[in-house]
Amino acid sequence: MGSIAERIQIIQKNIEAACRRSGRDPEQIQLILVTKTASMTAIQEVIRLGFTDLGENRVQHLKQIADEVDAFLKQQQAENPSFHKQVRWHMIGHLQRNKVKQTLQICNYIHSVDTLRLAEEINTAAAKLDHHPNVLLQVNCSEEPQKYGVPVGAAVHLAEQIASMPNLRLIGLMTMAPLTMNKEVVRACFARCREIFEEIRSANIGGAKFKHLSMGMSQDYEIAVEEGATILRIGSAVFA
Ligand SMILES: *Cc1c(COP(=O)(O)O)cnc(C)c1O
Repeated sequence: MGSIAERIQIIQKNIEAACRRSGRDPEQIQLILVTKTASMTAIQEVIRLGFTDLGENRVQHLKQIADEVDAFLKQQQAENPSFHKQVRWHMIGHLQRNKVKQTLQICNYIHSVDTLRLAEEINTAAAKLDHHPNVLLQVNCSEEPQKYGVPVGAAVHLAEQIASMPNLRLIGLMTMAPLTMNKEVVRACFARCREIFEEIRSANIGGAKFKHLSMGMSQDYEIAVEEGATILRIGSAVFA
């Protein structure tokens, strides 16, 4: 399977090829590396390689890993004053309202906002901390009943409500494709998310900051790029 650096290089080549197929610019695509299964050594390596947007799906693990990463960054800075890397943490998993404050102390990006109550909780907690977190509305584009995410039919209205909250910056939509080998099912899910995204944009909800589609994981990121993703969340293809 090669080293971490080689695996990232392969992913970047695949992203470039998907961009060529769909007439897109690879510069428009951000890679978030999902560390939930990664060792600390592997995380240090990706940071050294310059990949500093990291994602976690559980608050408990996020806190532990973020502390270890902080210690690593401090140590690197002490050894080498020209080392200036900072990590941006992204919460990508289901978030319980009682974990919001803890999450905001670490993350400036939350991809998994999917109810009005959660958005209100984040807005209130952010106001107390004087934070303006970037949030994405998670949409259940696969319409599987067991999935998190706002139902497709309620997405535009919820986006409007979130965009009106003073401490939240609504920067886009997030979705997860169903776990299936059927690429057309995956593609249809991403295409549906992009349609909702375009609808929200044309209604000017969220203004110019509303510009991201967070979709695509290790198994399906090339399809996501072809369907307009601007943020990919990749874990196992790098760390497994
Ligand atoms: C784990 C996870 C990912 C990354 O999945 P991989 O298949 O390991 O690339 C992306 N998004 C969410 C919400 C996740 O929980």
